[in-house]
Amino acid sequence: MEIINTIKKMVERREITGYKCDCCSKTQTSESLPEGWHHFNSHHQAWGEDSIDSFEHYDVCSVGCYLKTISKSIEENGYFFGFEVNGMKRKFAKKLVSAFNLDKNEE
Ligand SMILES: [Zn+2]
Repeated sequence: MEIINTIKKMVERREITGYKCDCCSKTQTSESLPEGWHHFNSHHQAWGEDSIDSFEHYDVCSVGCYLKTISKSIEENGYFFGFEVNGMKRKFAKKLVSAFNLDKNEE
């Protein structure tokens, strides 16, 4: 026969309760990405198989924050081989940012 002992277990579960803009730090309570926000990532291929560790994920609240974050991403990692941000290679991403006059170091 089974010997039953009743115990209480604490279960920890991670759940999304909100989002914070990676550019301006604005926060919004929401279980999924808020309307009008955008999620994207950047990565490069300079580290061979370890390039998987180059992935950076961003959530931004506006087009302005999107462009500023892309500009910052290019500044920080654009020199790496195979750099891409939101699916754009470095040169195209720089032109996009330049088109909105946010890039002060235009080539
Ligand atoms: Zn923002």
